[in-house]
Amino acid sequence: MQYPRPLGRLIGELSKLPGIGTKTAQRLAFHILSLTDREAENLADAIQEAKHTMRYCSVCGNLTDQDPCAVCSDQTRDRTTICVVETPQDVMAMERVREYKGLYHVLNGVISPMEGIGPEDINLRQLILRLQQHPEVTEVILATNPNIEGEATAMYIARLLKPSGIKVTRLAHGLPVGGDLEYADEVTLLKAMEGRTAL
Ligand SMILES: [Zn+2]
Repeated sequence: MQYPRPLGRLIGELSKLPGIGTKTAQRLAFHILSLTDREAENLADAIQEAKHTMRYCSVCGNLTDQDPCAVCSDQTRDRTTICVVETPQDVMAMERVREYKGLYHVLNGVISPMEGIGPEDINLRQLILRLQQHPEVTEVILATNPNIEGEATAMYIARLLKPSGIKVTRLAHGLPVGGDLEYADEVTLLKAMEGRTAL
């Protein structure tokens, strides 16, 4: 039996989400149909509002509903240090540690020759520009993930920044190799921060 068209469409859209297989999409679709009109509208509205108002910070590349983002516009943050991460989720992970008071730069990707992603495809040019405009920055912490792409990206940036004389550091190992920063617990992340080494 085929699903009625609107239900089939809902299941189809849900199953496009990461980690959602057909079974889960069906379960979610039936759950959504069991919601009150108000609840379903809230869900649809939350998706639309987030999609319409969230954008990338023009300074650091983080996802934000105000430009520049809350971190970039916070004058109490330490403006001499920039922590470079792959994704906005990594910023959230670092912020959970509460120990880091500097600024961020979100690459929104990693260099991956295998997938045809080069340095010009990630938010790297903006970092170089930012460092030229802000000579007060004395340290760049490379906090890309401890996997092949993350390491290669860190090495590439370290080489790029070498002539500038800015201190470039890398999070200490102790982060699970191949694990994402996003999923590291706070203690591990704090230790990795404290034990960061110069490149
Ligand atoms: Zn920002």
